[in-house]
Amino acid sequence: MSDAQLRDALDAVRARADLAARRTSDPVGVVHRYEDPLDREIVGLIAAAIAFGNVKTILAKLGDLLDRVGPSPSRAADHPAELKARLRGWKHRVFIGDDLARLLIGARSVQLANGSLGRDFAAKFEEHGAIRPALAAFCDGIRDAGKLRSRTRRGPSHLLPDPRGSSGVKRLLLFLRWMVRPADGIDLGLWSLDPAHLLMPVDTHIHKLARNLGLTREERLTWRATEEITAALSRLDRRDPTKYDFSLCHMGMLQRCPSRRDPVRCEGCGVMPVCRHWHVR
Ligand code: SF4
Repeated sequence: MSDAQLRDALDAVRARADLAARRTSDPVGVVHRYEDPLDREIVGLIAAAIAFGNVKTILAKLGDLLDRVGPSPSRAADHPAELKARLRGWKHRVFIGDDLARLLIGARSVQLANGSLGRDFAAKFEEHGAIRPALAAFCDGIRDAGKLRSRTRRGPSHLLPDPRGSSGVKRLLLFLRWMVRPADGIDLGLWSLDPAHLLMPVDTHIHKLARNLGLTREERLTWRATEEITAALSRLDRRDPTKYDFSLCHMGMLQRCPSRRDPVRCEGCGVMPVCRHWHVR
């Protein structure tokens, strides 16, 4: 299959998609409800950080959390004791209210020191010259400022993972995509980084589809798989490779891809002409 065929198939999936409906059912839709860019970047960080599991549950937990925090999440973090009291009793999977309060307090501290999270990230990218070390330093800053660490609980390290490890850190890369890609109804275009530098946020569905489309041969969902998939998508659009996240995610969610030739479950799949299970050389 050629890059042009793959590009055409993914562009067609995106062109047919209902962006407004997608935004409503996605945590990024919550970020769009805020006007102030400082609130948007903080809500985006929280929404991406807790985006584990069933999307309806994530939206319900995010809504409850933000109701407790109040109308301006960035300014709410200026009163740490009150914020912690408001979030007491909140829980989602391994995360508790105190973890989220510390994330908010740490992120707000970085905003106050640099003007915004976006400026801090831009400075770190300029210093390190690549996304992975910049993201690691960015997370270190928030973690240190919010004292977001624990020796006995997994919540803090899961909330803000370390990109230096082998994981693909999908939620952090999703947050970057929301902040950096040009505003298109889903992404917000808040930060000034060049979208060409972004890496694909890869979860198990995207990884499976990427293997079906020949974007990676990596069997495990690792940072290396993330880099391979991004490099393959850069051949389709080197200025904006993560724009294809929407198409791939859309397919993965709607089709419940069986990763084999299954006429019933594959029916209507927009990438069938370029899927390795159907493509006839
Ligand atoms: S054609 Fe079938 S196996 Fe291939 S990506 Fe689509 S749903 Fe998955």
